[in-house]
Amino acid sequence: MQISPLRRFISLTVTLILVYPVAILAQNAAPKPGSRRADIVPLVAAHQHLMSPAGVALLPPEPPLATVSLPPELDQLLRRREKVSGAPPTGDLFTEDAIIQELQEGRWQKGRDKIDSFLGFMEKNLRYVPSAYSADGSTGWIAGTIREGTSTEETLNFVLGLRKRAGGAWQIASEVFTVIPPRPYGKPVLADQLVEELDDAGIQRGVVLSTAYWWGDPRHGFSTAEGAEKTRIENDWTVAQVSKYPDRLVAFCGVSPLADYGPAEIARCAKIPQVKGIKTHFANARVDLRNPDHIARLRRFFRAANDNHLAVVVHARTRGEFVPELARIALDSVFSVAPDIPIQIAHMGSTAGKPDENTKVFADAIAAKDPRAKNLYFDITQTVLTDGSQTSEQLAQIAAALRRIGLERIFFGTDMTLPGNNPPPREHWKAVRRLPLTDAELRVLASNVPPYMK
Ligand SMILES: [Zn+2]
Repeated sequence: MQISPLRRFISLTVTLILVYPVAILAQNAAPKPGSRRADIVPLVAAHQHLMSPAGVALLPPEPPLATVSLPPELDQLLRRREKVSGAPPTGDLFTEDAIIQELQEGRWQKGRDKIDSFLGFMEKNLRYVPSAYSADGSTGWIAGTIREGTSTEETLNFVLGLRKRAGGAWQIASEVFTVIPPRPYGKPVLADQLVEELDDAGIQRGVVLSTAYWWGDPRHGFSTAEGAEKTRIENDWTVAQVSKYPDRLVAFCGVSPLADYGPAEIARCAKIPQVKGIKTHFANARVDLRNPDHIARLRRFFRAANDNHLAVVVHARTRGEFVPELARIALDSVFSVAPDIPIQIAHMGSTAGKPDENTKVFADAIAAKDPRAKNLYFDITQTVLTDGSQTSEQLAQIAAALRRIGLERIFFGTDMTLPGNNPPPREHWKAVRRLPLTDAELRVLASNVPPYMK
């Protein structure tokens, strides 16, 4: 949920009324002082990322649509609409039975009294910038974005539904808003920030996984030479960041699993003392585990990691449908060529929040003492959701999956902290503590140190 953009548009009075009871609930649910469970804290956060300036530039925001100029009568209507934000009454600007989407709870409000009451809480000085419109006979609409004062930043989208009165004047019959969330990858995340977040959570050490494999994502269309160079530069940036905190952080190079330059970059990274492994991402590279050429490339990649004694953290889930058959291919045909190195399966090998049939393929292999699973580990990055939306049955299923694999093979991790999107490690650990594991089990998970850090 995005609270902050709303707060900018609705006066704090409304926000506080809604937030206060939640704060009281949260306090009641907190562990009692002196509870040992609250004192259990992970030693290591084993799936963290930074964000480089080059990464920010690689993912530019969607550019705004061009502004359209409206026919004078619609332009006038929009200017009248701007004036009543924070300053009702609206008079006959809206139709008598108009509906407006209240922003805080997203519910419809119907009729002029309710619209006036809602608009009284909106900020003044909002600019409605039209991007598209249509007016045909007695109906029409205007769509666009809302900005504050002279700012060019677009914070809300709006659509106004219009109706023309018998007398000829246009009125607003409906108004909808959607919040434009902050850009998830909009600014750099440096090692300083990560260490501060680890401190805040009481976590001693972090594993920083370079996202250099992004430069191998085919959607960017880099040539092999460009991809190789940009991957190297990004990995070196990550290593330089990690080097500021030698007692706290280790690095994993990021390498696209299909790239021609993969094995050379793995060999290069193996010579960098701060680098303990390689992070790779099947979905990002559009890996198809049924494609023999991809399998050959993946085997070459994992063999290179094995030959260079570097652990691998793998986002094994591919794009689209990831079915147990594919997890089995990964285990049988890919991981099997790297028997000597730890392989950490990111996100439990599943979709966020659900260890599933794919996780079970790996868990079955471990339970059967399959030699190919000897060095398999898992991170629970984003497995327990921080928004509390998982039911107690779902949390029990996660706990059961962790027990089946063995808690000594499970590492804590949280991915990149993104404002309004992915909270810092402290919040993630609070969520993990809610799993129905015993204190002793939770302590095992918390005290795990991945083999590549020993
Ligand atoms: Zn990640």
